[in-house]
Amino acid sequence: MNKQPRLKQFDALGRICIPKYMRDNLNIKNKEDFVEIYQNDDEIVIKRHKKLCVFCGNDDALTEFEGKSICTGCLKKIKDI
Ligand SMILES: [Zn+2]
Repeated sequence: MNKQPRLKQFDALGRICIPKYMRDNLNIKNKEDFVEIYQNDDEIVIKRHKKLCVFCGNDDALTEFEGKSICTGCLKKIKDI
């Protein structure tokens, strides 16, 4: 992992571009994946948003339905209702 800081300048609208190699390393796909951004004291932290089951928070074997993620276990429970 490259820990060398890279200087980036915000554009006129306050945007910056995350370097492609960083997006590739984290398997972040343009126009598909989300990131979480928050302020931690004097830092701006950007994290890859991890999809989780909307019912239990599990991140394994997710199925997408109506824009929501559901894990295999919860999907089985719903089918058994
Ligand atoms: Zn679940």
